[in-house]
Amino acid sequence: MRFERNMWKKIAAMVLAIVLTVTLALPAATGQASAATTETGIMLDGRKLDNAQAITVDGTTMVPIRIVSEQLGHSVNWNQATGRIQIGSAPASLTLTLGSRTAASYSGSITMQQAPFLRSNTTYVPLRFVGSQMGLAVRWEQSSGTVYLQTQLEAPSLPTTPPTAPSTPPADSNRASINSISFSDNRLTISADSSVKPEGSVLRGPDRIVVDLPDSSFGPGLLQNQTASTGQVVTLHVTGSSAVKQVRYSLFSQSPSTVRVVIDLNRSTGHKLYTRGNLVLVDLNDDGAAAPIGTDGKKVVVIDPGHGDQDPGGIGVTGKREKDMVLSVSLKVAALLKQESNIDLIMTRTDDTFIPLDGRVKIAQDAKADVFLSIHGNAASSNAGGTETFYADTKRSKALSDTIQKHVLAATGFRDRGSKQANYLVIRKTTMPAALLEIGFMTNANEEKLMMQDAFQQKVAKAIVAGIKEYLANS
Ligand SMILES: [Zn+2]
Repeated sequence: MRFERNMWKKIAAMVLAIVLTVTLALPAATGQASAATTETGIMLDGRKLDNAQAITVDGTTMVPIRIVSEQLGHSVNWNQATGRIQIGSAPASLTLTLGSRTAASYSGSITMQQAPFLRSNTTYVPLRFVGSQMGLAVRWEQSSGTVYLQTQLEAPSLPTTPPTAPSTPPADSNRASINSISFSDNRLTISADSSVKPEGSVLRGPDRIVVDLPDSSFGPGLLQNQTASTGQVVTLHVTGSSAVKQVRYSLFSQSPSTVRVVIDLNRSTGHKLYTRGNLVLVDLNDDGAAAPIGTDGKKVVVIDPGHGDQDPGGIGVTGKREKDMVLSVSLKVAALLKQESNIDLIMTRTDDTFIPLDGRVKIAQDAKADVFLSIHGNAASSNAGGTETFYADTKRSKALSDTIQKHVLAATGFRDRGSKQANYLVIRKTTMPAALLEIGFMTNANEEKLMMQDAFQQKVAKAIVAGIKEYLANS
C-alpha cells in the first residue's frame, strides 16, 4: 500500500462529493436529541465488520473509529488522559478530541458535524468525516439498515509526510536527528538528517563495537518506538551474520545529547567506520580494510521494505500485515544480495521500525544509490489481484520498473497489472533509478496466503535480485 499526498487529495476531493450526497440521504434526526439513536451494521469492502455498529445521533451517522481505521491499515492511538485520538502516524496523522468538533491534520483543522464521543469504551466519529478523510465511498441501505463503506482506489491512505518540519523540532538546531538504524550485508547503516561526527571504539569481554553520535537524538521515526524515547535500550535483531550477535541502541546521554549504537559480536572482527553524506556506516570485515560502499566498481542498491512499526500498511484477509510480509521478503532479498560481490546493499529498515517517507529518500540519496527499490503489498477489495511495479520518471526509472515487473510477475504467477508510471514520493524524490513493487494483494485471500509462505517469498526474493542484476548489467 502506498502513501501519497497528491493521490490522497484527489481521492478526498472525488469522494467528498459522493459522501455529501449519501450523508444527506441518511435517516433524519429523530428530533429527540442525542438520546434517540438507531443502530446499524457496517460493511467494509463487502465484509461485515464484527461488533461494529453505526449510530445515528441528531441525524449524523457515527461509526466506531478504531475498528474502521484499523481495518484500513491506519494505526489508532488513544490517550485517555487528554481524550485525544491519533489516527495514522505523526506527522502525517489526524488528531481528534472527544467532545470537540475540530479535528487537526497537518494541512489545517477540519470541522465535523458532531464531536466524537465515547460509548461502551468505543469512540464514535461522524461517518461523513471518516469517509472524506480516509477516501471511502459511503452508501446507506435503509432496507437492511446497513452502512456500506468502499475503499476508492487500491491504496486508500492518510496523507503522507507534510511539507513542513516534523512536529518535534530539535531543541538545539545543531543537533542531528537519527532517522534509522539498520544492519544488512555485514554493514551497520545509521541515517541522520544532518551531518554527524561518529566516534567509534572497540571493547573486549565480550567483544563489541561502540559508535557514539555526539549532538544527536532520535528522530520522529525512531521515537515512535516507546523504548527509544525513554532512554532504554532498543535491540535490533540481526540474522545472517556469523560475526554479529545483535545491535543495540539508546540515548546514551541527554546532555550533551548522544545516541550510542553498540554492535555485539560473536567473535572479534575488524571494522571500518566512515560517513557518506549524512549516513554513518560501519563495515565489518576480518581485515578491517574493506573499501567504502560504492567503490571498487561496486553498485549500491537500496532496498526499502514499506511501512513499519505503528504503520502496518495493508491488512490482509486473515489479518496478516503488509509491513511484516515486505520485511520478510526484503530480508530474503538482502541475504541473496549479500552473495553478490559487485553489489553493496543498504536497507532502509531491517526490523519493525518506522521511517518517514522523506527519511527513506534521504538514505538512498546519501548512499548515492545506483538502484532504489521499495517493496510493498497491495490492498483493495477482495477480488482485486495481481503484481504491479511503478516508476516516476520514464527516462530514469522505467527500464528498472519493467525489468522488476517481468521477473517478479514470473515468480508470483499473479495477474499482470503492468509496469506503470505513478508519482509516489519515494520514487519521485529519489534521483537514481527507482521503482516501487507491489508483489500482490494482501486483501486477496489466495495472494495473501501465498505471500506469507516462506517458499513463495524466497521465489519472489530471487526474482527481485534477478531483476536488479539484469537491470544493472544493461545500464
Ligand atoms: Zn504499502
